[in-house]
Amino acid sequence: MTEPTSAQFRTHDKRVRGMLADPECVGELLLVGVGMARCLDLGDRPWRDDGHMDLPTIAYAVYGRNRLGMDMLLPDRSAHGDTHPRRRVLDVFRHDRRRYSPRFDGDRGPGMAVCGRPMLRREGTCGRNASWDQQRRLTDPVTGKRHTVGACSQPKCRAWYADLLARNAAELKAHPAPVPAANTGGVLERHLPELDWWKIWAHVDKDWTPPPEGERFVKPTLTLLVGDPDETPVVEATPPALVVHEGGWR
Ligand SMILES: [Zn+2]
Repeated sequence: MTEPTSAQFRTHDKRVRGMLADPECVGELLLVGVGMARCLDLGDRPWRDDGHMDLPTIAYAVYGRNRLGMDMLLPDRSAHGDTHPRRRVLDVFRHDRRRYSPRFDGDRGPGMAVCGRPMLRREGTCGRNASWDQQRRLTDPVTGKRHTVGACSQPKCRAWYADLLARNAAELKAHPAPVPAANTGGVLERHLPELDWWKIWAHVDKDWTPPPEGERFVKPTLTLLVGDPDETPVVEATPPALVVHEGGWR
């Protein structure tokens, strides 16, 4: 392996500083991101002659070769937290796939809802705790966003809720809701745009499709560093587009 140049070190330093300054690039995202940045910028392993990044090598560098203790895992109960190093990296990618999630719109999901029946003689809703079996995430037919709505045990509230569910189902049948714009994920894509993340996300989530949110960022392949007019402009080539190689565990 040849020694990295000072330009490569500067590129790497800028990238890692960007990650550290990004409030969303934390925990295992940061850990895996730094490991991958090292390969991209400084040509460390895992680089293969065919232009692929070798996933097992990253996984072993970040997590070691043995299974992980549970205290190492993402503090997110919704993530499955695989203890196998390679699958763990794929878990991190899955956790970071670009998507819409009602949780990032402030919806806490069934379990915490209060009764939403509008009151007739005063402003607001009933507001009692919703019964455990009377809470559901409903899709807004206009926006496609999902909100948890519930009802308490009072007969009037249950009747209102049953009617709401029926109306909502009928509305969605007549006018299928749009796919809401992504509101989370894509943190590593921001910092490692050379990689084909769409391919990775489709791999870690078979149901994944690109969510609506406008044009995808296209990284230029060349950077022109303009100095004094007398100086010859320096053209700096960026690494080629890459895909993460799964490494044969399938
Ligand atoms: Zn109620």
